Amino acid sequence: MGKLDGRVVVITGAARGQGEQEARLFAAEGARVVLGDVLDEPGRAVAKELGAERAVYVHLDVTREDDWSAAVAATKERFGRIDGLINNAGIVRFNALVETPLEEFQSMVQVNQTGCFLGIRAVAPEITAAGGGTIVNTSSYTGMTGMAGVGAYTATKHAVLGLTRVAAIELAAGGIRVNAICPGAIDTAMSHPEGVDPAVMTDLYRTKVPLRRIGQPEEVAALALFLTSEDSSYITGQPFVIDGGWLAGVSLF
Ligand code: NAD
Repeated sequence: MGKLDGRVVVITGAARGQGEQEARLFAAEGARVVLGDVLDEPGRAVAKELGAERAVYVHLDVTREDDWSAAVAATKERFGRIDGLINNAGIVRFNALVETPLEEFQSMVQVNQTGCFLGIRAVAPEITAAGGGTIVNTSSYTGMTGMAGVGAYTATKHAVLGLTRVAAIELAAGGIRVNAICPGAIDTAMSHPEGVDPAVMTDLYRTKVPLRRIGQPEEVAALALFLTSEDSSYITGQPFVIDGGWLAGVSLF
């Protein structure tokens, strides 16, 4: 028996990285998954691999209200209901605050923060209609602390925690638990910026992170599974840090 038997979960940003691993793990645990992304080709390929019984890909730009309406309609048509949402899609740009163009700042707000809001607003009524379920928002360790060089991103990830807390309070009566994941450095395209030697990044994490390595997207998927399954039945409104101990404190050695 799978931990998500009978569940129908929409996952944004599921064409690659953490979202892809969440889709794979959830399908393996018995869920039917709807993979949303703007990267249509790889998104369709993952869904195809998982099989038509288990998975479908939809083009879903999380910043667009009409895309959310279409994704909800497509999910209901294919699987009849929705009782889970993973707001995972996100983008990052590296810049000092005083050098960040307004457009760059706003693009991160649009995807990371507004996208999360639109997802909650579009899907929560469906989850309640299905008899209750879960929402997991993807924040970051930069949702819990400041990080130089990613000021706009950090602001959006703080905002995601605010949305998570309010949604947990407002949606509890409708049978929905809402929690947030706060990953540290995870081994995906996002943590290997173009033009930076991957070996340099790997070395950085080896020296900075107490567990001496970068995290794997499969490890984040396992946390998303916990928060989507009945194993977390009395937990709502909380941020969960998964960062190899990076936020635990400073080290002299
Ligand atoms: P990733 O870049 O591999 O995946 C992000 C996915 O989001 C991509 O498939 C991308 O196409 C999709 N996406 C981007 N804009 C979109 C939009 N407008 N609509 C729909 N999809 C869109 O990176 P990842 O590490 O898998 O990131 C997943 C989440 O984890 C993000 O929210 C990210 O901010 C967060 N996170 C990542 C790290 C890390 O170190 N990788 C750390 C903390 C938090």
